[in-house]
Amino acid sequence: MRLRNIPRAEGVLKECSQVIETPEEFRGHWASDVFQNDYPVHMEIGMGKGRFLMALAQKNPQINYIGIERYTSVLLRAVEKLNIYIEENESTLPNIRFICMDAQDIANVFAENEVDRIYLNFSDPWPKARHARRRLTSPDFFARYDKVLVQDGQVEFKTDNRDLFDFSVESLGESETWGISECTYDLHHDEIMNVGNIMTEYEEKFSSMDHPICKLIAKRRC
Ligand code: SAM
Repeated sequence: MRLRNIPRAEGVLKECSQVIETPEEFRGHWASDVFQNDYPVHMEIGMGKGRFLMALAQKNPQINYIGIERYTSVLLRAVEKLNIYIEENESTLPNIRFICMDAQDIANVFAENEVDRIYLNFSDPWPKARHARRRLTSPDFFARYDKVLVQDGQVEFKTDNRDLFDFSVESLGESETWGISECTYDLHHDEIMNVGNIMTEYEEKFSSMDHPICKLIAKRRC
């Protein structure tokens, strides 16, 4: 994603009550204190412009959604989209919150067993071998997910990048903790895994260029 600094981003994010500025404060209390319910918490890491998460939040009012994005300039786009939704519908989406942070710190923001599901969509590929630990499907990141996910929690990963997908399949295959429960190399033609699929911005772009979309679901080994 091409990034440019947008000076007004920080001000707009500050004004939005759905952007959580000091997320560490809510560690261990997200559902009760932020959403004021006891519904499950699902998050998308690297949510980009937020279409996927907003669609899920509209569809599933009894799930709390948290979008994590590293850059204010990108999160700004999601907040603008949410503001348009609020204006058009004259009501907010009560079950969505955004955090601007690097996902490598998630264990400082969420407690053990606090998250039920993590979505990774079109994650940055970090193609150089020396950057492999930055990939969101690397063993280092799964060790972080391990600290916050409930025992039967899952990680759902979609991408058009075959090298990143192969890396992810291989490293999960070698993991003692995590395994792959479902996998497809052509999601949009997979009659089972494509049911209820919600496309992200990147998914629309790359599938319109005829790139097959790969998807896997990872769960803890029994
Ligand atoms: N998920 C969106 C989609 O599918 O349209 C956006 C995909 S975009 C290629 C990847 C996004 O992940 C970027 O916005 C990037 O800033 C964000 N990202 C990458 N690494 C991250 C990290 N460690 N923590 C938080 N966000 C991250």
